[in-house]
Amino acid sequence: MKKTIAMLPGDGIGREVMNGAREVLSVIAEQYGHEFNFTSGLIGGSAIDERGVPLPDETLELCRNADAVLLGAVGGPKWENQAPANRPERGLLAIRKELGLYANVRPVKAFECLEERSPFKKSVLQGVDFVIVRELTGGLYFGKPSGRSGSGEKESAVDTLVYTKEEVRRIIKAAFEMASGRRKKVTSVDKANVLESSRMWRETAEEVKKEYPEVELEHMLVDNAAMQLIQNPARFDVIVTENLFGDILSDEASVLTGSLGMLPSSSLSLNGLHLYEPVHGSAPDIAGENKANPLAMVLSAAMMLRTSFGLEEEASAVESAVQHVLNAGKRTGDLAAADEQVLTTEEMIAEIKESL
Ligand code: ATP
Ligand code: MG
Repeated sequence: MKKTIAMLPGDGIGREVMNGAREVLSVIAEQYGHEFNFTSGLIGGSAIDERGVPLPDETLELCRNADAVLLGAVGGPKWENQAPANRPERGLLAIRKELGLYANVRPVKAFECLEERSPFKKSVLQGVDFVIVRELTGGLYFGKPSGRSGSGEKESAVDTLVYTKEEVRRIIKAAFEMASGRRKKVTSVDKANVLESSRMWRETAEEVKKEYPEVELEHMLVDNAAMQLIQNPARFDVIVTENLFGDILSDEASVLTGSLGMLPSSSLSLNGLHLYEPVHGSAPDIAGENKANPLAMVLSAAMMLRTSFGLEEEASAVESAVQHVLNAGKRTGDLAAADEQVLTTEEMIAEIKESL
């Protein structure tokens, strides 16, 4: 199989973990006889430094000419004082909009050998294996009007939560599609007791459900979902929700496994050009020190192999290698207990390649 992969390392540890993903993908290409062509583009702070903007046109062009996009992470203290319109994070919002990445998918699965890293009890973590599908290009983060008016104590600020039926339907459909290939349960999270947009969301979910008779649908208020996620997370299979709700719930869920450095994500478009990135940020506190855990990035690459290229066997091989290396007690600093040996980013990648 011949594929072009756009790599956008971004800032901080993004650059280090991307190198690792590239090495792992090269091994897969060699073993399975594929041809992966890697292209590389600037995004975030490094793009601001070199091109003056967080998402240069040439980066977008590079993505549009690729079969899939891998992203590292953006941001860092160096750019914190930039005007809001020119911060690294703007690059992220812009690429989501430009590529039409409307669905953010975060699998949350507890690794048995890392249970001691989680702040939660074994009994809570047992069987945790769910996916959060977050709407990414609409809702409260993009609704107009948004801004300020007036002054003094009469100054007011407004944000708007607006969705079209079409936007809601496509994200809920994505969740049902995903549930069909899993344990066949969708939990639609909203605030329908207060918000009109949530009532339309709920109605739309019921409509979509008719197309998937084999999939169970439950509705849950977002406040309850926040509680259930830490009290009884094993009850979930696929959670689907609005942009802001999903932002909050997915960060909450990432704490379950106790390891930010292990969580991959994908952002899906309707036209088939998807983006994959680790859940963690650029980790400026450890950037450049060869300490970052590259496994979230490596698992994001595995998601790409499966979702974008349909390479199930190759994706499973990468995931098994990660499992194998962890089971053998290999740990980067974020995962290691006090008495355990700590591997560098590069050593961890070498272990994965060895296992493959
Ligand atoms: P962002 O705003 O981009 O989400 P953040 O500050 O919320 O960034 P991270 O950059 O992900 O979060 O860092 C949070 C903490 O987790 C930091 O202490 C960082 O060192 C650690 N961390 C994040 N990712 C990794 C990783 N892959 N390996 C090791 N430690 C990590
Ligand atoms: Mg964060």
